[in-house]
Amino acid sequence: MKKVITIAGGGLAGLSLAVGLRGRGVPVLVHEAGRYPRHRVCGEFISGVKPATLEALGIAGDFEDASRHVRAAWYREGLELMDSELPEAALGISRYRLDQRLKERLLKLGGEVREGSRLGREPREGLVWAAGRLPQKGSWIGLKCHLQDFPMHSDLEMHLGSNGYAGLAPVEEGRVNVCGLFRLDRSRKGDGSKLLLDYLRQGGNGALAERMEDSARDESSFLGVSGFELGWQGGDEVLCTVGDAEGMIPPFTGNGMSMAFESAELALEPLTRWSDEAGSWREVVAEIHHLGRQRFRRRVANAMALHRVLLDARGQKLISAISKTGLFPFRPLLSLVR
Ligand SMILES: Cc1cc2nc3c(=O)[nH]c(=O)nc-3n(C[C@H](O)[C@H](O)[C@H](O)COP(=O)(O)OP(=O)(O)OC[C@H]3O[C@@H](n4cnc5c(N)ncnc54)[C@H](O)[C@@H]3O)c2cc1C
Repeated sequence: MKKVITIAGGGLAGLSLAVGLRGRGVPVLVHEAGRYPRHRVCGEFISGVKPATLEALGIAGDFEDASRHVRAAWYREGLELMDSELPEAALGISRYRLDQRLKERLLKLGGEVREGSRLGREPREGLVWAAGRLPQKGSWIGLKCHLQDFPMHSDLEMHLGSNGYAGLAPVEEGRVNVCGLFRLDRSRKGDGSKLLLDYLRQGGNGALAERMEDSARDESSFLGVSGFELGWQGGDEVLCTVGDAEGMIPPFTGNGMSMAFESAELALEPLTRWSDEAGSWREVVAEIHHLGRQRFRRRVANAMALHRVLLDARGQKLISAISKTGLFPFRPLLSLVR
């Protein structure tokens, strides 16, 4: 008899962990506060994930039809800084599709998912907290919207502004996802995607806002979230956390979803052991916490430092100046946030 693992949060970390555990015969129950399918505030490109991680979780097949993005163009307030090749292709797929797919895969494997079920954040044996970033008084707002048949200038576009940045990534069915992270400004106005356009214009990205103004925007995909901080989210050695619930890497890296999968992968073996009654919960939680910090400490620290440079006026000027020489160390910097 194996013991049940209960997972709070059916986002990428929770669902992929549940699928991985089912592949090892562990009974799992996922509580998801929302209902599928649903849009999420996310740039919807996955950069830096290793095929071995997706295979270990048993979800590699869910990316077979994902778009492959090999180039990324960077702009500052409308001016192109560089258009560089990524070290490996980034995967483009909407969260609307991906989360639904993972839920279906889990159900097929005999896992249980309770939608519309919100758990309390109290540590207990057998509970994994995969409920995403910690709600707190934060200084950021994330806004996203899908555009139909939007002409791209490169596979991916990243636009820096004085108030944040926005990324454009093609997903499926001719859709392009636009997602921005901005300093929260309560004086900004606009319903739906007009709020996103307003933030873009405020940050000097009027040219991008004009391109979007003329496009077919799917208002049903528009979403905004505020009240969060980047970096470590207060996971400790008592509560077992995976994914954003443990730590949130700045979104410009396109690596948050990879971190969600990687942290699920790290937790597989210790949780399977606990389910087999071959380890105490306390030891298992401490081990998962230790493995997570070991894997992600350097990556998160580097990304937080680069994030500050990206959002600083002097930092942006420096990036512009180096880009003009053609010597911007894009790949070495990217390797620091993997
Ligand atoms: C603006 C922005 C842009 C981003 N762009 C990218 C990008 O381009 N590429 C990338 O790789 N990453 C990106 N990310 C990060 C990425 O979205 C996250 O790293 C990823 O979603 C983490 O997955 P998760 O499962 O840990 O959390 P989530 O995806 O947030 O899932 C958590 C789930 O838990 C549920 N939940 C919450 N509370 C409870 C509760 N109490 N009980 C039960 N269920 C609960 C929620 O409904 C949700 O479904 C971006 C993030 C932001 C904010």
